[in-house]
Amino acid sequence: MKKSRIGLFAAALSLGLLAAPERQIAQTTTLDSHQQLTREIFHQLIEINTTDSVGDCTAAANAMAARLKAAGFADADFKVLGPNPRKGNLVARFRGTGARRPILLLAHLDVVEARREDWSFDPFRFLEKDGYYYGRGASDDKAMAAIFIANLIRFKQEGFKPDRDIIVALTADEEGGDFNGVDWLVKNHRGLIEAEFGLNEGGGGAIRDGKKLFNSVQASEKVYQSFLLEVKNKGGHSSRPVKDNAIYNLAAGLQRLAQFEFPVNLNEVTRAYFERVSKIEGGETGAAMKGVIQNPPDAGAVAYLGNFPAYNATMRTTCVATMLQAGHAENALPQTARATVNCRILPTETAEQTRETLVKVVNDSRIAITPIREPKPSRPSPLAAEVMKPIETITEQMWPGVPVVPTMSTGATDSLFLRNAGIPMYGTSGIFGDIDDSRAHGKDERIGVKSFYDGQEYLYRLVKAYASPNANQRQTANTRR
Ligand SMILES: [Zn+2]
Repeated sequence: MKKSRIGLFAAALSLGLLAAPERQIAQTTTLDSHQQLTREIFHQLIEINTTDSVGDCTAAANAMAARLKAAGFADADFKVLGPNPRKGNLVARFRGTGARRPILLLAHLDVVEARREDWSFDPFRFLEKDGYYYGRGASDDKAMAAIFIANLIRFKQEGFKPDRDIIVALTADEEGGDFNGVDWLVKNHRGLIEAEFGLNEGGGGAIRDGKKLFNSVQASEKVYQSFLLEVKNKGGHSSRPVKDNAIYNLAAGLQRLAQFEFPVNLNEVTRAYFERVSKIEGGETGAAMKGVIQNPPDAGAVAYLGNFPAYNATMRTTCVATMLQAGHAENALPQTARATVNCRILPTETAEQTRETLVKVVNDSRIAITPIREPKPSRPSPLAAEVMKPIETITEQMWPGVPVVPTMSTGATDSLFLRNAGIPMYGTSGIFGDIDDSRAHGKDERIGVKSFYDGQEYLYRLVKAYASPNANQRQTANTRR
């Protein structure tokens, strides 16, 4: 069965993980003044280490604040704040008329760890080579951070008068650490980031064999939840074994779980995803996608798509055993056996419903099933015309014939904190990447030079479309029609 790469790509993209294949001698590419500024900001951000171990997000936030000040932003229009000296967040506001509620542009400043010996060159030195920009955070997530700041400065320089405030938040600890900036801002400074909706990482363009396939918009995320499965037993001497054994009981329960699949349960986002990707995939896979969006879903189609991990994870909640621990001595019958089961729950289902299903499937009252940490549910963002139309219009303008595909990611971004707080978030960047070349969190992370500036232009046009007074009249006229 043809291994489907679009699903893997969509999954990878949700995690903001891809680079573009364009081969260009970037040196010969002349950059206009806006592109030149964006390149300098990107260079600066890459070279400020913002890892959790030794990095400093406050230094990066201050560097961006200094650029806004130099561009004429008033002190009242930007702040660097956070719960920890190294974990600062920048919140900047480009003021509009207030005719409409603000929009929020979000990117995280922190990056995952990178060791020099694991890379071909220093991960914290900005490098341009063979049509790519290299460095830790190049695609996750410093490209969007640099683009948002550069575009805000461009709006200032152009004297743009938006009919709503444009807020840029560059935050700490998305990748890990104890001071998630978005969660902290929502809890402690909600007013600074209050918005009608916002843009974040998680979406972008897909390329295969040099051909642009689709521009994805992440509108939903599955909920991360692990459960502990534990069996207790009185144990005894292993020279006199009995049938009632903690390890065997747990293993039998896990075996039943291994055979089980949660029911297919599509939502607005995943239904649109399969509907649109079916046309791109075509063939047997495309036909199966059409079968899955039937009501009820076609069983054969479900079974076929279930063979593709990314499509399977898009259709249903998944739970899988990831860790095991049992026994206390080699010569003693085990008194405790534990397993960790990691679930990725559809946003339209709850952790409690999932636990109840696990209880039924495992079907052994000796196995206690308890949630590990509180789940962080996040409701899907509606595919509202006000948000999707400009994305489709600009995608058609910049990449004629390339479809826009809504996606639900199996991984999580900081959008979950905002969706949870009632602010719909959309993962979109306009940054195209190669389906088979995912480097974020990995070695020699990079982004294509052309793809980077295409993303800048896309986000410039998109934010302007969302915040332009006449776009508003046009919109209300359209909706009235
Ligand atoms: Zn990221």
